[in-house]
Amino acid sequence: MLKRGGPLLFTVFAWFGLLKGLPEARPFFWFPACFAIAAACFFLYNREKKEELAVAFLLTGLLLPAGAIQSLHLIRLTPLFFPLVIVMTFFFSLPAVLIALTLFSIQIVPASVLQFAGFRPFLDIADPVQAGLLAAFLIMTAGVSSYMVRRLQTARDKAEHALATIRRNARSITHEAELESLSSEETLSHYYASIMKIDEEIRELLGTIKQAVFADSASLFIPDRNSFVLRSSTGAEGALEVMDGGIVGACFRDKKLASFSELDEKKTPPGYRKELRIVSIIAVPILDGSLLVGVLTVDSSRQYAFNLPEKEHAERVAAQLVRILHRERMYIPLKRERAGLRILKEESSNLVTSELDRGRIARRLCEGVERISAAQVFFFSRRGKLFDLVHHNTGRSVESRRVSFDATIINFALENRTKFYVSDVKGYKIPIMPFNAGEVRSVLAIPMLSENQLLGVLVMLSEQVDFLENQEIELIEILCNQASTLIANAKLHAQIERLATTDGLTGLLNHRIFQEKLTGELKRQSRLSGSLALMLTDIDHFKKVNDTYGHPVGDIVLKGVSKIIRETVRDVDIAARYGGEEFAVILPGTDGPGARIIAERLRESVREKTFSADGKTFNVSISIGIAVLPVDAKRKEELIEKADQALYHAKHNGRDQSVLWNSIG
Ligand code: GH3
Ligand code: MG
Ligand code: MG
Repeated sequence: MLKRGGPLLFTVFAWFGLLKGLPEARPFFWFPACFAIAAACFFLYNREKKEELAVAFLLTGLLLPAGAIQSLHLIRLTPLFFPLVIVMTFFFSLPAVLIALTLFSIQIVPASVLQFAGFRPFLDIADPVQAGLLAAFLIMTAGVSSYMVRRLQTARDKAEHALATIRRNARSITHEAELESLSSEETLSHYYASIMKIDEEIRELLGTIKQAVFADSASLFIPDRNSFVLRSSTGAEGALEVMDGGIVGACFRDKKLASFSELDEKKTPPGYRKELRIVSIIAVPILDGSLLVGVLTVDSSRQYAFNLPEKEHAERVAAQLVRILHRERMYIPLKRERAGLRILKEESSNLVTSELDRGRIARRLCEGVERISAAQVFFFSRRGKLFDLVHHNTGRSVESRRVSFDATIINFALENRTKFYVSDVKGYKIPIMPFNAGEVRSVLAIPMLSENQLLGVLVMLSEQVDFLENQEIELIEILCNQASTLIANAKLHAQIERLATTDGLTGLLNHRIFQEKLTGELKRQSRLSGSLALMLTDIDHFKKVNDTYGHPVGDIVLKGVSKIIRETVRDVDIAARYGGEEFAVILPGTDGPGARIIAERLRESVREKTFSADGKTFNVSISIGIAVLPVDAKRKEELIEKADQALYHAKHNGRDQSVLWNSIG
């Protein structure tokens, strides 16, 4: 609480100072302090993105001009607050601006009232009505302006999104065009053959230039992240050590040829080091259009080893290298495409064999997309308006497993029912996920749909800007589509299974499943040589309930009694609707006395339950017959028969009781 309110506490000091007339009395203290508070709040807000910090910053932002107006007696400048409020709504959320304004306004009125107690009227407005009006107008301005700003922003976001889609589509068309021209097997094999030769060709070219200009060595460097690495050199492997920066680094940066003839390596480092000294060096940028793809160097330990003809030679070789490197770059998307197709083939068959278990489908899907691109992957399945986190690969424990995506970036995908890719989240003010997902720069969200029904959503988060290529997104989408179909099938299967095994009215197992379960349990108990009790239950005078209150009320009673049965028996027990108003409960591992205790508890719970209909209340009772395996019976039919006999006995001896078969004398 203190942590959250901390920044606001400081602003209260600023506020109090304003009331005491400090801006005028001690301007050199109040203004710097106020500035410092504003700067601290702004810094913290940018780091932590907490609304209360925004409020504190905005409030100080309002106090500062108020202080200026107060100390300089420039009451006429008060209307300047209106543009200030409008600007605030551009950069901060409406709630933050409104809270700041309200806090600011709360001071106006009491200040003007409290002036008799020695306080200076705030903004020099002495009249409370006038002060109140100013506050109301400011708040109104914030509301209207924020509404307009949000509308403009939504329109801009939409336009940007549309533009990005067009761009991406355009990119994928060019990719396809590239691939199509290479699609025939013959061209492909030729292509692969020439790819294999790239390293050889580069080495050959470097050897040529080395000989042509009498250099000690010729090398090719290629860019790598923010720096460069050695791609190939005429020297033996490991004979050259890349140092970063230097002449080669400058050549990468400026894209300009550099040449030295009396180099002092200590003063002007070349960017790499070898056993022989480097005294003369030429570094030539290799430009593919405007894209820098590498730097070629030739060096010598002699002074003035290279002149104009040598430079021209080097440039010619650089031009040759452009073509080779260009071909290599073309190969990368093709290679990726092939890798993508392989992943797709393997993962989709993995998905299909992951049976009908929804959790496993989700896991398989996450593993599949992670192979396409390393990232944080989450799979959420829908539960009404909320979402359950079913699987994720982050290795951390995630704060909450049930979440709402309202007011998050993911919601764009859910609302539009289409994939949503943000290559850089920097421009977005709303949170990405409903929980802290760490450092995130780009996001992919794919809603899982089946026949227009939203089943869930797959989310990928990366620390990298623009972490996915268009083709990769397409692959992920295909996998998601496949998984959606499987999940929908699994759901349907579970539904059908439920319908086929349970009784529609009471939700208990139906008669058919009861018979199957009893057979299974008997087999298990004979193996374990344990005992098992069977309870048959019948509602007493149930016809009367139907006749007095009607069939629908009878149904309610049936539901009520089955609920009590479900709540009374243990998890291992199996309760079923045996037929009509009769229920059966299998009690594995239970003997006669044990079953009797459960039966009595059940009987009493039913009797205590009050039903109501037609403004009247009534109770029902049940009779229970119990037979036990192996003491009363050995076979299934015999067991049922004896439990039925015990029930019959209970009915004929006054009902509302439980009877053990072997106690019938
Ligand atoms: P007893 O104490 O001897 O068991 O008397 P009883 O009136 O309960 O007699 P019986 O068991 O023969 O009557 C069963 C009645 O339960 C007959 C039938 O109309 C009613 N019934 C069976 N299934 C349903 C149902 O699904 N809903 C409703 N409301 N009534 C049902
Ligand atoms: Mg009956
Ligand atoms: Mg009955």
